[in-house]
Amino acid sequence: MAAQRAYQIPEKYDLWIGNEWVPSHSNDVLENRSPLTGEVLGTVPDANEQDITLAVQSAEAAWRGWSDLGARKRANLLLKVADRLVEDAERFAWLETSDTGKPWRESIANVHTAADRLRYFAGVSRAFEGSTLPVSKNILSMHLREPLGVVGIMGAWNFPLNMFAGKIAPALAAGNSVVYKSPEPTPITTFELARLMGEILPPGVVNVVTGVGERAGASLVAHPDVRKISLTGSVETGPIVMASAARTTKRITLELGGKNAQIVYADADLKAAAQGVMLGAFMNQGQVCTSGSRIFAHRSVAEELQARVIEMIPKLRVGDPFDPDTQMGSMVYREHLESVMRYIELGKAEGGTILTGGKRLEVDGYPNGLFVEPTLFSGVHDDMTVACQEIFGPVATVHVFDEEDEVIARANLLDYGLAAGIWSQDLGRAHRTAQAVQAGRVWINCYNLFPSGAGFGGTKASGFGREDAFETLLEFTQTKNVIMDFAAERRSFYD
Ligand code: NAD
Repeated sequence: MAAQRAYQIPEKYDLWIGNEWVPSHSNDVLENRSPLTGEVLGTVPDANEQDITLAVQSAEAAWRGWSDLGARKRANLLLKVADRLVEDAERFAWLETSDTGKPWRESIANVHTAADRLRYFAGVSRAFEGSTLPVSKNILSMHLREPLGVVGIMGAWNFPLNMFAGKIAPALAAGNSVVYKSPEPTPITTFELARLMGEILPPGVVNVVTGVGERAGASLVAHPDVRKISLTGSVETGPIVMASAARTTKRITLELGGKNAQIVYADADLKAAAQGVMLGAFMNQGQVCTSGSRIFAHRSVAEELQARVIEMIPKLRVGDPFDPDTQMGSMVYREHLESVMRYIELGKAEGGTILTGGKRLEVDGYPNGLFVEPTLFSGVHDDMTVACQEIFGPVATVHVFDEEDEVIARANLLDYGLAAGIWSQDLGRAHRTAQAVQAGRVWINCYNLFPSGAGFGGTKASGFGREDAFETLLEFTQTKNVIMDFAAERRSFYD
């Protein structure tokens, strides 16, 4: 299959501040390596505190003007960004695949998701109203919704483009300005979308910085003029960010990791469940926070489900990510691949049985590519490391259960609480289970669907706050209560 048309990747990016490329005050750079060839694609600044201050100043100078534009004009500009992004979908998808190794079909879908998030928030922000309460004949209480000002946003590297667009869209639609700290391994499409936004949005409304989390990210979290932090990241980073944000009384949203259960009941449509298991475990090479990597199958169907999945895995087209037929590409960076391989070894050492996969994969034309076989374990106890910790790779474990109460208790055993999948034709049972599982997102007879408007986020160690939905606008605004007395001269307290 012919590769897609190639596009240019700049050898060096500076910081994106005030709609301009601004050199960093730091002499340090981060090398961005191709997950497919191992070659250096280019460098980005490893920004320091001075850089962050500059970006925050740019955002601070911009947000009132942006807010004053009003919802209609802001929405129209965001819609224009979405249109331009879709017009340039092929280039963005090519850049995304080059930077992440994800298959072309997912990159194209991610571009459209990114545009859809922008359109969704442009749309709903027009209907974002405050409220009034007639306290009495002469007294009116009003709740006005105001933007927060400068918000600091940090994303993870697994969906760089749609995470950037999806996380900043509600902030912008509500009238805030943004400093976005791009995740270290995958900066390209974030910078390119910022560049595109620079042709449409006023300067300073969107600023993008790069750098390591412990310096650039930490400086952003600590900055006193940043009013809110929204982080998508690991369960380890979340509490660190939360503790630091507390020092300047910032609001926060934490979208953190998951170790998600897929429960397959005896009455499930097993063909659909097997497809759901595949999607849950192997989409984006398993580098998905909602990866449905703990598969609980009822004893009466476990063997058949397992057999169906094992039959489907060899048909999964793992290979050249630029081939539109490819379904699974490469891992994003070498150290992460090594971490996934360590987990696989640990699973074996702890007594798990590999049903299929477990090794690195060689793909024609990519001798240095970071490919891993889709891997399925059985014989895994609930307390084994591979069943308890987020691996963030194409690795899933199969567990057998007997009773509904039992499987719910086992699904809820971990501190994680992001997502769950339920497969059953008995909608009563499915709904009971959905209410009982501790997760912010539950899919019934489907998996890994992320429509705009459906609130996404976790509970327990997986974080709090909801993204992608109308209520996200609430999280990027604050209420100002204004009480007006139309007859003040007649009702003085001191009369
Ligand atoms: P990470 O926590 O290492 O980093 C996330 C972001 O936080 C990066 O931009 C990083 O630079 C920054 N950061 C790291 N340390 C920081 C600090 N001390 N102060 C401020 N910022 C800091 O996560 P990752 O490895 O980039 O991403 C993978 C993780 O993200 C996985 O756990 C995955 O489940 C999670 N994730 C969650 C969701 C969700 O919506 N719940 C979505 C995608 C990924």
